[in-house]
Formats: sequence, structure tokens, C-alpha cells
Amino acid sequence: MNERYSKLLQYNTSGLGCWLSLIIFALIVGKIGLGGVVSGFLILVALLFIVPVIGFWGFQWWLKRKLTQAECPVCNYEFTGLKNTEFNCPNCGESLQVEGDRFARMTPLGTIDVDAIEVSVQSIEDVN
Ligand SMILES: [Zn+2]
Repeated sequence: MNERYSKLLQYNTSGLGCWLSLIIFALIVGKIGLGGVVSGFLILVALLFIVPVIGFWGFQWWLKRKLTQAECPVCNYEFTGLKNTEFNCPNCGESLQVEGDRFARMTPLGTIDVDAIEVSVQSIEDVN
């Protein structure tokens, strides 16, 4: 008797859930109208198309901010490097990092980077 009762209750609750969803759907349609449901569906479809496009643009914008295209200071090979990371030149293998919008050599601590200047023999003789 008791078992039969619970089965009946189970049947009733599952039917109730179905009815509840139908009532909620009817309430939504009644509240915003069928046109509202259709336009909502169209907005959803439009969002499905727009979101990937915006996502792609956003990703490109993010990449442009993160990437720097410059020349290697050692071999003048032009390539793209990621900011805030250390990387090697794909051409000469020099360790590089991004400084502003150009690449700079990674020099070990205590290394002094000097630029050699060509001095003609004539000017040295002039000083003496
Ligand atoms: Zn290089």
C-alpha cells in the first residue's frame, strides 16, 4: 500500500516537472511574447557568430601587444619575439630579450658591451 503510494507520488512529481517547464515556457512566451522569443533566439544566433569574430580580433590585438617584430642586433635578421621572455635569434642563436620595441642582447652580469669605432691612422698621427 505504502509502496504503491510512493510510486504514484514519483509518477506525479515527474509529471509535475514536465508541467512546470511547460508553465514556465508559457509564462515566458506570455510575458515577452512570441516575437520576443524569436528575437531572443535571433540574438542568440547572432551572438554565436559575433563572439568568435570578436574573440579572434581580441586575440589578434592581444598578440600585437605581446609580440614585437624587430631585427637581431647581432645579425640583423628580422623576426618576431614575445615580450617579457628570453629567446634566441633563430638565425644566429644569440640570447635576446625585448627592450622597448627592439631586441637587445642578453649579456651576462659584469659584461660591458662596447661599440668598436674605426679610427683612421691619419687622425692618430695628427694628435702626435
Ligand atoms: Zn641573430
